[in-house]
Amino acid sequence: MAKVIEEQLKQCKKCEKTTKHYRNNSQSSGFMLLIHLVLTVVTVGIWLILVIVWKLLNTKIGGWRCSECSS
Ligand SMILES: [Zn+2]
Repeated sequence: MAKVIEEQLKQCKKCEKTTKHYRNNSQSSGFMLLIHLVLTVVTVGIWLILVIVWKLLNTKIGGWRCSECSS
């Protein structure tokens, strides 16, 4: 599976300056979409709800880590 480390300059509250932030961003491959599709069918849509909730939470938190203080 393709794992991409994203990098972005962001304001860190802890360092009180703009530092390099990074996060792991696993790219959705066709294979993963197929797994999601199968699991959605198997769990009668429950899986899809879980994935949506998980994606929303992940987007909200962002998953960004400061490269200097790791927060
Ligand atoms: Zn920091």
